[in-house]
Amino acid sequence: MDAATFILFGSTGDLAKRKLFPALYNLFLEQKMPQHFSFIGLGRKPFTDAEFQSYVEQSLNTFSRRKPSDHSALKAFLGCFRYYALDVNDKAGYVELLKLVQKREQELGIPENRMFYLSVAPEFFDVIASNIKESGLGDTAGWKRLIIEKPFGHDLKSARALNAELSKSFEEEEIYRIDHYLGKPMVQNLETLVSANPVLGALWSNRHIANVQITASETVGVEERAGYYNSAGAIRDMFQNHLLQLLMMTAAISSPMQSAERNIRKQKIGVLRALRPISKEDAAHHIIRGQYGAGAIQEKPAVGYREEPGVDAASMTDTFVAARLWIDNSLWQDVPFYIRTGKRMKDKSTRIVIEFKAGIKEPYGSGEQPTEPNRLTIQINPDEKITLQLNQKNALNNGQLEPVNMEFSMPANQLPDGYELLLFDALRGDATFFAHWEEVELAWEWVQLVLEAFQENRLPLYPYPSGSYGPDAADALLEEQGFHWWQNE
Ligand code: NAD
Repeated sequence: MDAATFILFGSTGDLAKRKLFPALYNLFLEQKMPQHFSFIGLGRKPFTDAEFQSYVEQSLNTFSRRKPSDHSALKAFLGCFRYYALDVNDKAGYVELLKLVQKREQELGIPENRMFYLSVAPEFFDVIASNIKESGLGDTAGWKRLIIEKPFGHDLKSARALNAELSKSFEEEEIYRIDHYLGKPMVQNLETLVSANPVLGALWSNRHIANVQITASETVGVEERAGYYNSAGAIRDMFQNHLLQLLMMTAAISSPMQSAERNIRKQKIGVLRALRPISKEDAAHHIIRGQYGAGAIQEKPAVGYREEPGVDAASMTDTFVAARLWIDNSLWQDVPFYIRTGKRMKDKSTRIVIEFKAGIKEPYGSGEQPTEPNRLTIQINPDEKITLQLNQKNALNNGQLEPVNMEFSMPANQLPDGYELLLFDALRGDATFFAHWEEVELAWEWVQLVLEAFQENRLPLYPYPSGSYGPDAADALLEEQGFHWWQNE
């Protein structure tokens, strides 16, 4: 891996403390960091280098999956860290920052490879990118890369405007748009799971799959984020990015028998291009929006969204969205993809359920007995788990047909955090699991009409009790095709 400088905007913020420092530290312990490495943290707080290093150490003690125990390794890691106080709007500050970056490059004898990570509010993305260019920080003899956090735009127009601004300072191949769902080990495993297992790969199409259900449910409410959430809702916060990414990752897999092309990003873009658009007039037929009311989570009473601090008593913000989507290509024609996400739901779970078509012949000995369809459940969160449901005769119960599960699971605390995998990829220049601009733009294009339909109140806002599976209306989306949601059992 190339020696490089890692420049972190927002290094005193929450994300840096909880995710980024621990991710870098774990990569360091696994020797997955460049041997010579310069880290420069930026923020508004006045920190000395020593204060910053002890701040990073505290974050590792609190949040890292491996707590620092080897003192010399920790010292070597922290020794790479420097701090510079910079207001993102202060143009002259960037010129001083360039001097510090160059000084460290010379001290360490490393090439001008520079990674800029923007862990700051989105309104700063464009000003930072343009100041990087104007100050000369971006004129490197080596590579330069820009990592940006979500949200990427608020709607189609603002996303395009932001991209146009960023493109003035960075090429598309230099921009790494983080969607942390793409960092989850099980999501990165999806393509391999199917293409390396012909037993699944051979079934991965509309010939054998009846429907796909993608769920990302949370038990928490809006918490302290009402200010942001009121203007985003579930559609922007979860659907436009994470859920559409999961849909793309599921549908972009074609087994080696179907295609030799293994360029995941290209195939994902193909999936979005084939997504059937919905009109504003028809949105209510394919989309359900909901908002949590009062109820209980694990027997603890919970207030409704409109009673939450900072929320308007007449708020129309969606805290739940379910949708039925169709991918009009030869692989997925006629297979509905059902997607839902919500806050204050019964359980916390992110999973993809693949429901297979019923067997053509009545299974031997089943008589009148209905059999359950085979299902593959890929759980991404909280723990990773793959479950395949089959039917078998139970000799202990008069040979009755019964569903049985084959299961493989991996507790989350044994796995690397998504940020570890993503930072490792970005440092070695592999953008496979980052969102390409075309993915982001096509996702916004599809969602834009839904946003407008929401705005114009063309869809009812269904209340649902806290602690439930969401509004009943979301069941009707599936019933039309004769299906139902497979809940977490
Ligand atoms: P935060 O508010 O905790 O930190 C923001 C950082 O920006 C701080 O370091 C602050 O010093 C810096 N900052 C603010 N104004 C500045 C200015 N004028 N000049 C220089 N620095 C300035 O935010 P966060 O939670 O760390 O989130 C950072 C980004 O990551 C945001 O885009 C957020 O949407 C995204 N994100 C965060 C999380 C998370 O878990 N926290 C998850 C996903 C995405």
